[in-house]
Amino acid sequence: MPNATLDFQSFSITPIHAYSDNYIWCIHTEEKAWVVDPGDHKVVEAFLTEHKLDLDGIIITHHHWDHITGISKLTSNRQIPVYGPSHPKIPEVTEVVNEGDQLNIFGLQLTVLFVPGHTLEHIAYFGITAAGQPLLFCGDTLFCAGCGRLFEGTPAQMNHSLQRLTTLNDETLVFCTHEYTESNLKFALEVEPDNTDIEAELSIVQALDTSKQPSLPTSIAKEKRINPFLRASLPQIRQKLTEQFGVSADTFSEDECFAAVRRWKDNF
Ligand SMILES: [Zn+2]
Repeated sequence: MPNATLDFQSFSITPIHAYSDNYIWCIHTEEKAWVVDPGDHKVVEAFLTEHKLDLDGIIITHHHWDHITGISKLTSNRQIPVYGPSHPKIPEVTEVVNEGDQLNIFGLQLTVLFVPGHTLEHIAYFGITAAGQPLLFCGDTLFCAGCGRLFEGTPAQMNHSLQRLTTLNDETLVFCTHEYTESNLKFALEVEPDNTDIEAELSIVQALDTSKQPSLPTSIAKEKRINPFLRASLPQIRQKLTEQFGVSADTFSEDECFAAVRRWKDNF
């Protein structure tokens, strides 16, 4: 298995690179595999062939093309379940899931969390391994030091979804679907120039060859220290928002602080 494989006793998780910066997370044993958000069937088929794995199922977080385009090819000659939200762009979903629904992958019980904002139907999958390690597959909702753009939802919806994810155990490993970490950290440092945790993470990721070793997964604990979208209403960030936008951010609501950081990043 590649260096980037993480072992969780009854299964492992390996990132499959797709397009320029997507990760298709593969949850697998020595014989069987599930994939999360297969935007490209070719890289998944190559991985399955190389490691002699049978595809047992697919889970989907939202309807964007780079997360779903591989589904139809992967299921055309396989009778396997596809779990995902209800959305007209993903007719291949065979098991529509909503908030609170559960599924089991190699003994890992995953619970569906409804996290709208990036898109309106976006869901995430959270579970705890037999050894007690919490895991989160969050699609394009939370990134290392960043968050997904608001294509469909409101800032309040996205902020609520992100704040909800911060209530998960600090040790939760977060499997994001894009390698945006370095550019996100550069923006985070602009928002919080005195945050030494951000500086330290930036030098770590700059020393990584992310084509071989992803900067992910991240953790909820780390995101609470470095992610400007989770920290948007802290006094030092309000102060920067005031300087950036020329209006006093002292009286902004938490959602307004989040919206202002998002707007800043969109134009960064
Ligand atoms: Zn997306």
